[in-house]
Formats: sequence, structure tokens, C-alpha cells
Amino acid sequence: MTSTPFNLQFLGSGNAWTKPPANFHTNVLVSCNQNSWLIDCGTLCPLALHHLGIPLRNIDAAFISHLHGDHVLGLEELLLHRLFCEHRTIDLFLPAGLFTEHSGIEGADIWQNCLRASLETPDVSTHPPRMLSLSDYASVHKLIPGSPSNIFGLPVDIFPVEHIPMRPCYGIMLDHRVAYTSDCTFSRPRLEELFNKGVSTVFHDVCFTCPGIGCVHTAFDDLATLPRDMAERIILMHYADDLQDTHIRRAIDMGFRFAHQGEIFSF
Ligand SMILES: [Zn+2]
Ligand SMILES: [Zn+2]
Repeated sequence: MTSTPFNLQFLGSGNAWTKPPANFHTNVLVSCNQNSWLIDCGTLCPLALHHLGIPLRNIDAAFISHLHGDHVLGLEELLLHRLFCEHRTIDLFLPAGLFTEHSGIEGADIWQNCLRASLETPDVSTHPPRMLSLSDYASVHKLIPGSPSNIFGLPVDIFPVEHIPMRPCYGIMLDHRVAYTSDCTFSRPRLEELFNKGVSTVFHDVCFTCPGIGCVHTAFDDLATLPRDMAERIILMHYADDLQDTHIRRAIDMGFRFAHQGEIFSF
């Protein structure tokens, strides 16, 4: 199987509470085949792009893993800028699980529950003014778990992860080689399945100070139960700003790596 070269740049690698300049939300810029697109676009994403000197107009598309603010709420600025400043639309790649099948409104939960309040504005160029909908801002593409697709020529396949009970959340596999879990609780079978499919690198959610029962992220103590050959293929992300040196040293000694804000990984 031929591989497709691509880069992943971490616009941030922090958790939902992260504050610049310590870090930004865990959102990633994928560069492949002369296109740039986002894995998640959280509240701090436009600021993180600005911080790195990347204009919003350079973003061709976004994939959204789930509907938490640190993963989706930056879309408001991105979509408003795209339509009202650039006069064009953007491609949105959304997991099927985020679609509202019975709402009667074209689009997805992302519109109903996240964007509609600010983006459903009247188009005053028409008479009488027409209310804008998601399709005025974006071409929406539905991704189905287990049905391989591609984003600008880069093969992708999404997979469900457990994060918030009864709320959908998805990881994404890139070019059959790299997996990105997004926010998730620990599952060794999920990791084994990814590695058995030939994935060489997994970017994985981590929490070093999990409150225990009820935590919706992956406690490092759980990742620490993995054998070294698995740890060496895992790069940790979505961690707190107050990460202790002892936490970092323990993880690195076990073979894990960390993604850092601004860092570029080439595959
Ligand atoms: Zn998050
Ligand atoms: Zn989340």
C-alpha cells in the first residue's frame, strides 16, 4: 500500500482549561497534498492559528470529533470569517453520530446545539431577508465509522471512542498509519485493535490528575499498565497546564512521548 505524506502540527496540546501562553486547546493542523485542515477547532483555535502566523483563510476544512467547546467552538469565528470576510464556504467533515436525523434542519447537531444561536443571521442581500443556515457557511461531509473515506486525498477512517456517557465522540485514523483518539477514556482493546490494523503512532488523550470514578479522560495510571512496546508508539496530548516534572519524567521513562504546542510531526 502506498503511503501519502502528511504533517500534523499541534496548534495546542492542552486540556479544556488550558490558558495561553502556557498552551492552547488540543487542535491539530493537518497539511497534505497542498491542503490544510483542522482536527477540531476549539475556542482557542483561531488565537492559536494567529499565534503561529497562520491566517484563517489558509484553512480548507475541519473535522470535528465531538461537541465540547475546546473542540468545536472556534468554528463560530472560522465560519463567520469564511463567509463574511472571504465570501466563500468551508468543508466540514462530521461524524455521522453528530447528525440530527430528525430535526428537519439540514446539517447536524453542530448547528442545532453549537452554532445556530450566532450564525443564524438574516441575509440582508435578499428581500425579504432569508435566515442563513449551515449550508450557507459550509459543505458538510458525513463520515461513517468503518467506512474509509478521504480528506483532500488523505485516507481517513473514524472510530467511536468513549468520552462522555451517551454522547458521541470519535477518533480519526489517517492514512492507515496514524490514529488520533481525541478525548477518550482508557481502552486497551481499542489500542490493540489500532496497532493490529497497522497503526504505528497513536496520539492519545491523557490526564495525570484524574479524579478517579467519573473521569471522562484517560488516567496516566491506566496507560502505565501498557507494555513498553505499546508505550513507545503513543504520543500524549490534552494534558493540564500544571503538568509536574515528575509526571513528565515518569511517562518518558516508560517510553511515552508528549506532543507540544506548535510541534510538527511528519509522516
Ligand atoms: Zn477536550
Ligand atoms: Zn471532550
